[in-house]
This record gives sequence, C-alpha cells and structure tokens, in this order.
Amino acid sequence: MKQVNGERLLASLGEGVKDIRGRLTPDAPMDKVTWFQAGGLAELMFQPHDVDDLVTFLKLLPEDVPLTVVGVGSNLLVRDGGIAGVVLRLSAKGFGQVELVGENRIKAGAICPDKHVAAMAMDNGIGGFAFYYGIPGSIGGALRMNAGANGTETKDRVVEVHAVDRKGNVHVLSNADMGYSYRHSSAPSDLIFTHAVFEGYPDDRAKIRAEMDAVRQHRETVQPVKEKTGGSTFKNPEGHSAWKVIDEAGCRGLMNGGAQMSALHCNFMINIGHASGYDLEYLGEMVRQRVFEDHGIKLEWEIKRLGVFMPGREVRPFQGVTTE
Ligand SMILES: Cc1cc2nc3c(=O)[nH]c(=O)nc-3n(C[C@H](O)[C@H](O)[C@H](O)COP(=O)(O)OP(=O)(O)OC[C@H]3O[C@@H](n4cnc5c(N)ncnc54)[C@H](O)[C@@H]3O)c2cc1C
Repeated sequence: MKQVNGERLLASLGEGVKDIRGRLTPDAPMDKVTWFQAGGLAELMFQPHDVDDLVTFLKLLPEDVPLTVVGVGSNLLVRDGGIAGVVLRLSAKGFGQVELVGENRIKAGAICPDKHVAAMAMDNGIGGFAFYYGIPGSIGGALRMNAGANGTETKDRVVEVHAVDRKGNVHVLSNADMGYSYRHSSAPSDLIFTHAVFEGYPDDRAKIRAEMDAVRQHRETVQPVKEKTGGSTFKNPEGHSAWKVIDEAGCRGLMNGGAQMSALHCNFMINIGHASGYDLEYLGEMVRQRVFEDHGIKLEWEIKRLGVFMPGREVRPFQGVTTE
C-alpha cells in the first residue's frame, strides 16, 4: 500500500525547483538506502549538489514539511509506511571529499565514509583514526551518533563541525557545542552537518596500518558484517553489555518473520531474507521485553527508527518497557 505522494509534494514546491541543481526523486525506496534493505518510501528524496544548493532548497521548502537527513543508512530502521516529507541524502560529489588541512588535521565532508578518513590519516602518519576503519557509516552519521569503537569515539577527534539549519542558516560548532555523550549528540536536531575538521596526533604509519588490520580482522570474526544489518541494535545499559543480557535472556538467534538476532553477535539484528520494517522492529521489542523480564533492564534502541507504520502493522513498545 502506498503511503506517500512525492509527485504532489514536488509539484507543491512550485517554480523555485528549477533553480535546484541536485536530484529530486519522488517516492524513493528507502530499502535501497538502508543496510537492512527494508522499509517504505521517502515521499521526496533530495540529493543536493553542494552547500549552496542545499541552502537554496531549504529556503524554498515550506516550514511545515518534515525534513529527515540520512547518511549511508547503516544505523537506520525505516518503517514500512515510509517517511513523510523530504529525506535529505548528501551527494558524494558535493559532500564526499576528505583532505589534509594542517598538521594532524583532516577535513571531511559529511557523506565521506569513515573508512576514507582512517585511510587518509594512515597515509599521512596521523594516529587516532584507526577505529573509523571498522565503522561502515559516513562522517555525518558519526557526528550525530558519536560513533565509536575500540576505545575511541568521534568526540575524541572533532575540532569543529559545519552545519546548516532547517531555515538554511550556516553554523559552525565547536566540540563542546556538539554536546557529546555515549552514542549521542545534543546538538540541535534540525542541524544538517555538511563537513567537519578532526585532529589526531603524529604516529608511525606501519603501526597505524597494523591497528587497522586488527580492527578489520576482529570485526570479521565477531560481527555479521556481510549481512543486511544495522549494527548494534541497543545501547549498552549502564554497567552491562547489551549482547550479554540479550544472550542471557535467550534471544541469540531469536526470529520474527524475516528478521533475526544474529547468532554470531546477538546485539546485531539481521534481515535474513525479506524482512519488513515491521519484522525488525517487532523483533527488537520482543528482545526488550525478554531482557526486561529477565534482568529488569530497559534496553534503549541505538538504531534510529524512522517513518510511519503501515496501518494495522503498528509495533507498540512492550508492556513494562518505556518508550524513549
Ligand atoms: C556492520 C556494522 C557495524 C557497526 N559498527 C559500529 C561501531 O563499531 N560503532 C558505532 O558507533 N557504530 C557502528 N555501526 C553503526 C553505524 O555505522 C554508525 O552509527 C554510523 O555512524 C552511522 O552512519 P550513517 O552514515 O550510516 O548514518 P545513518 O544510519 O544514515 O543515520 C544515523 C543518524 O545520523 C543522522 N545523520 C546522518 N548524516 C547526517 C548529517 N549529515 N547531518 C545530521 N545528521 C545526520 C541521521 O539523521 C540518523 O539520525 C555499525 C553498523 C553496521 C551495519
């Protein structure tokens, strides 16, 4: 069932769209964007050509039209009813560059893969970025999620972040302005990060290379990296590992429709065939319920859930588990 009408939204923007240089796609399938390969349609997807194009579009877009920014979709669960309004996906051409901008400093566009930043750092003998080698997201996603691994987080490397707000005004944020905590930034939720400057420290290239190899090897052994997944489903609860409490609650390998808690790493949900957004989210809530009953712990979703449910296929948080 079709839940959105992108052609109508596009037409409502009027003549101003002629000035837009980026790509506008009505009814864009989000299963082509998310790592889960599941979910409904984006009413209208916009891929700006560059920052100026983004600003032009934002000034054109009526304030009451919802706007959702996505990166490369490695942490997203999109519901089957789709996403109303505009989904913004930065273009690699305008926002994918990575360059050195001073001693031990790297500037990266928001859609640049984290991996490219790690590789640039290694090539130039800059330490502190090997953790990005194992995270499959983009810099924009890393800035918003405070992505981290192997004892380092994005907040440890960020110097300044450039962003555009919903009205098209440009902002520059310091590390402190980003308000970082575990897998979270309290920077205003309407900000679209466009690029950021990071700083590392001088280090030996061979040592960095070895660290990156170790990161890759470890991942391939303990995570279902070749599956359709969204990474860690739940944040680690205070004083616990999410995977451990999920395992102890008997949820390793638990299935719902085409969705499964990975047998390899049971805090990773995987789409084992044709999982819908409903299958995945319902499975997640089953796990929250079981962990709550078993440990009294309320797991908090790390994965971002976007969009609306298909009518009749709503997933309600299970009893006893509060919503965020
Ligand atoms: C196999 C696998 C392993 C993973 N391992 C890790 C790990 O070790 N550590 C870790 O932290 N994460 C991990 N993840 C999760 C994920 O890769 C990170 O959260 C990543 O930072 C998300 O980036 P993304 O580009 O995919 O963002 P998306 O999933 O597309 O979006 C995530 C959030 O970021 C926001 N966002 C994206 N771009 C922008 C932007 N330009 N401006 C403003 N907001 C934006 C979105 O609105 C959304 O709220 C893993 C995922 C997978 C699939």
